[in-house]
Amino acid sequence: MIKNVIILGAGASGLMCAIEAAGRNRSVVIIDHMKQMGNKIRVSGGGRCNFTNLHVSAENYCSFNSHFCRSALARFTPADFMAILDRQGIRYREKSEGQLFCLRTSEDILSMLKCETERLGVDFSLQTSVLKMRKKGEFFEVLTNKGGFMAESLVVATGGLSYPALGSTNLGYEIAREFGLKITRLRPGLVPLTFDKNIARQFCALSGTSLNVEISCNGMHAVGGMLFTHTGLSGPAILQASLYWEEGNSITINLLPGIDFQEFLTDHSQSRAQFATVLSSFLPKRLAQRWTELKDIAWPICQFSTRQIEHISHDVHNWKIRPVATEGFQKAEVTLGGIDTRELSSKTMETNKIPGLYFIGEVIDVTGQLGGYNLQWAWSSGYAAGQHA
Ligand SMILES: Cc1cc2nc3c(=O)[nH]c(=O)nc-3n(C[C@H](O)[C@H](O)[C@H](O)COP(=O)(O)OP(=O)(O)OC[C@H]3O[C@@H](n4cnc5c(N)ncnc54)[C@H](O)[C@@H]3O)c2cc1C
Repeated sequence: MIKNVIILGAGASGLMCAIEAAGRNRSVVIIDHMKQMGNKIRVSGGGRCNFTNLHVSAENYCSFNSHFCRSALARFTPADFMAILDRQGIRYREKSEGQLFCLRTSEDILSMLKCETERLGVDFSLQTSVLKMRKKGEFFEVLTNKGGFMAESLVVATGGLSYPALGSTNLGYEIAREFGLKITRLRPGLVPLTFDKNIARQFCALSGTSLNVEISCNGMHAVGGMLFTHTGLSGPAILQASLYWEEGNSITINLLPGIDFQEFLTDHSQSRAQFATVLSSFLPKRLAQRWTELKDIAWPICQFSTRQIEHISHDVHNWKIRPVATEGFQKAEVTLGGIDTRELSSKTMETNKIPGLYFIGEVIDVTGQLGGYNLQWAWSSGYAAGQHA
């Protein structure tokens, strides 16, 4: 089959790229090894697809080159994606901090993308495994179990390594390597953190306990929910911290964000209540008890010295804990790192060395924070390549 554009990967970025390229009258085929397109869109945002964030900016992304994403994000913005949904009558709502979710389900977005690709005559070759790929003269040749495909533009939209159950493979990185392109270090992101066995044992009784905290890690601060699991910590604030956490790092947890605990203890310094009882008026009871035991505080507040009040409230606001690992790509929402942005044009996503070869979406070293930023990057980078491929 000969086309103008072959897109590898029928995920968010590949579908957006196909719509834009086909809209320019380019003939397009999308190849994917899965039975269905857009598996990650389907499960995203707990099935409601947190498809963008109103406050998107380059500061919401981790990348070796923090400026790379600016151009694409400016040319296809959250408002542009919302305009598409508005035209199609798909309803959505803002949850917190600019995060936009479908009012019904993520299927609304998937069927909109499917209808658009059909309307524009995009061909799909699903359940298709790529066996070989090469550049022959002006053309890219992709050999698959369903035959050969040729095109002058090849767009790699195969995503990252996270959640292999949804179709992730390392094909994109393999193609980059074959063409001699640099790849930055790959690691799981937006992923639960785990403790070593001893610490996990100390907290296993807290599994299922959640609370709002502020977490600091490597210069990053995240406010939001934190959940104790059997193996460590999860919840939105932890997932966010995982983007910045490196092996060996501690994270600092403010257990009482927005509360001046030192002032509270000082005001109640005549109280005969046990410390654990007082703390449990702010924190889940099991956590208040465990934390008090760990800190070995076994006397009532009225016996605290001024120094102890200072010391204990400092600890409550700055509890340091050292995770040992993450739950890995199996549980990660995204892959940190990817195709080195120095290999790509920030306007078109085309590689500098191989004309006609493009990379888009998560496979690139651009990783968004939690809150709709990753899908916005997939739409924006897909749009950028679709305007050019
Ligand atoms: C559980 C979960 C929830 C998420 N929730 C959100 C959210 O609410 N908001 C948000 O912004 N982000 C969310 N994300 C992240 C977001 O889904 C991804 O960043 C985004 O989908 C990446 O788009 P992509 O097109 O680059 O890759 P993908 O969507 O991963 O698409 C890649 C496609 O390539 C195909 N492919 C891979 N290897 C091959 C191969 N060898 N041969 C052929 N085809 C191949 C795959 O089958 C897939 O269809 C979530 C991720 C997960 C895992």
